[in-house]
Amino acid sequence: MAKTDNSTRYRVKPGSKVELQQHDPGYDNGYTKGSPEVEEKLARDLDRICEWQEKLYAESKQALLIVLQGMDASGKDGTISHVMRGLNPQGCAVASFKVPTPQELAHDFLWRIHQKTPARGQIAVFNRSHYEDVLAVRVRKLVPQAVWKARYDQINDFESMLTQNGTRIVKLFLHISREEQKKRLQKRLEDPKKHWKYSPVDDQDSRLWNRYVTAYEEALSRCSMEAAPWYVIPADRKWYRNLAVAEIVEQTLAEMKPQWPQRPEAPAEGGEHV
Ligand code: AMP
Ligand code: MG
Repeated sequence: MAKTDNSTRYRVKPGSKVELQQHDPGYDNGYTKGSPEVEEKLARDLDRICEWQEKLYAESKQALLIVLQGMDASGKDGTISHVMRGLNPQGCAVASFKVPTPQELAHDFLWRIHQKTPARGQIAVFNRSHYEDVLAVRVRKLVPQAVWKARYDQINDFESMLTQNGTRIVKLFLHISREEQKKRLQKRLEDPKKHWKYSPVDDQDSRLWNRYVTAYEEALSRCSMEAAPWYVIPADRKWYRNLAVAEIVEQTLAEMKPQWPQRPEAPAEGGEHV
């Protein structure tokens, strides 16, 4: 079966209205888990990502920012460990954004974010991001409505400024179903290796599911831009989520097309010593 190209299929067209109900979290594009086709494609995309990263680092003219968002247990940590595992740590950083500290709260909401954006030549992965300030903050009513409502434009302006300064931004929403989330949160309670991931806040947030859906739909609809698109990734199947994310990251780097720098001028033979 001919497979569709993930990097266009899941992209949110700028200006379009996202309804998450229209996106199947269990979609697998006709692939079969564990098939040679899947294994080979993933390995190929991961290899290419590594090759592109070397060039990006050597070139040092552009940066890549990958934003990961999703409900609790949607697989943000798993995506980072599976898709970013081949990267050279020297050119790559992960930033995780938690409940803001008092110092962070004393600044505008983008202050802590801007400190973690990638330098030229670097890849940065955000595990949660400035979008929490129109998601958790909105749903949990942490600031007045007028404050979070103004943030969509502020986010678009901030991201436009970054892209105009050489940073490519890819925003990935890991889309899971409520049933899958329940299963995964339950597992955190049962599996000793997952206890550490459990937080009572997750259960509170899970009860606020519908409000999170509304908040995500508005963020995805209002903040998908040509140069900083949102993607809705089907994420109920972890293996497919990894495949789709790797493909999108690879294609983004291919579009950025970093180049090996030119050979430097060699000193002229027999040149004078000063
Ligand atoms: P985790 O990613 O599981 O470590 O959880 C981090 C928690 O911090 C989540 O419950 C987020 O919703 C919360 N969080 C992240 N950023 C913010 C923010 N700007 N305001 C309030 N809560 C936040
Ligand atoms: Mg959590």
